Amino acid sequence: MNFEHFSLDPRILTGVKAVGYTTPTPIQEQAIPAILAGRDVLGLAQTGTGKTAAFLLPILQHLSKGPLRQVRTLIIAPTRELAEQIHQANVELAQKTKVRSATIYGGVGKAPQIEALRRGTEIIVACPGRLLDLMREGHVDLTHVEVLVLDEADRMCDMGFLPDIRRILKHVPTQRQTLFFSATMPDDIRQLADAILRNPVTVQIGIIAPAKTVSHALYPVPSDLKMKLTLSMLEQMAIGRALIFTRTKHRARSLARKLETHGHRAAALQGNMSQNQRQNALDGFRDGRYDILVATDIAARGIDVAEISHVINFDIPDTVDAYTHRIGRTGRAQETGEAFTLTSPEDESLIREIEKVLRARLERRALPGFDYGAFNPTSHPNGQNGQQPQRDGKRPYPTSPSRRSQPRQRQPRL
Ligand code: AMP
Repeated sequence: MNFEHFSLDPRILTGVKAVGYTTPTPIQEQAIPAILAGRDVLGLAQTGTGKTAAFLLPILQHLSKGPLRQVRTLIIAPTRELAEQIHQANVELAQKTKVRSATIYGGVGKAPQIEALRRGTEIIVACPGRLLDLMREGHVDLTHVEVLVLDEADRMCDMGFLPDIRRILKHVPTQRQTLFFSATMPDDIRQLADAILRNPVTVQIGIIAPAKTVSHALYPVPSDLKMKLTLSMLEQMAIGRALIFTRTKHRARSLARKLETHGHRAAALQGNMSQNQRQNALDGFRDGRYDILVATDIAARGIDVAEISHVINFDIPDTVDAYTHRIGRTGRAQETGEAFTLTSPEDESLIREIEKVLRARLERRALPGFDYGAFNPTSHPNGQNGQQPQRDGKRPYPTSPSRRSQPRQRQPRL
């Protein structure tokens, strides 16, 4: 199938060509016709599946007819990074149309946002807090909204945005099309979806399990050797662009610094940074000034950087859901990626949960030549279950073979 199949306006197809999409992803195949038909959609899809274009393309088709310069689509996203990413996707896809989008999020000045609203826009991509602020100040008119999108609804709920969303919904016409995207469906999200969707078409792509293009491995290691092991991994493997996750902001900052002192081009991305610092870290990672971004879960939400070859969990995430979101940062759009998790014995129960969701046992590995001291990764609880960790490159669970996992001399960075 190709994009011509959807009978989109030629100006929109020009945008699709410009961004280089040739074949619709599975969620695009399923969601675009339903949205074009005016149906509400419940999209159970993780990030990295192409869901942004799945909702933007039919919205652009709808907006290309009818009045301009009034807010006819409201897209609500949990983080400014995700909002910015949706906006950028729209700038590219809508480049030959007259449809504009404007972003509204906190942490930056209000004036340019108010000015963009004053000039007129058809699409607003907003985070809930700042949107409510500007609504209270009388800068936003939502009475003409025809399409409402809630993106990463489960993240918004995790971040405590549900009351804000309910407040915003009161100002959006009830006669509208609603598109609701979430990677998971806990009870409160299910209730919200039931309350705001009308007879929706459900589109489900790889719910919960991370993208199949990612291979996973565990590296059992005592906590105090994590830093050394990470450095050795970076030295031995051909790691192109890596996103490393830590549990706390402080650990993200200090790990990034340590990596820098060992000659790596690394930056931290964590909540205590100013918007300028965050943007600099993200831009640097995107344009290749940094090969490694060390981030916390919250700071990393919505990051869309192509060619992240490795996600390394320096600290295991708190929940299976968080694991899924972290891993969703690599292997995007059918590229392959690798996910390494450094584990200590106390992580065992969460690992079992992750394995249940993946319906596969994660491979336990030991890094060849690494001095584990008295610790024996092969006798670690995570290394048992009737299977020993593998010391070579063979993997029982990747779905896609990748040459990147083979230890080898450090390669020039991308
Ligand atoms: P998303 O899930 O919307 O965050 O998209 C993940 C990545 O896939 C983004 O970098 C998109 O630019 C890319 N993408 C979306 N649709 C396609 C497509 N049909 N073909 C190739 N790449 C795509």
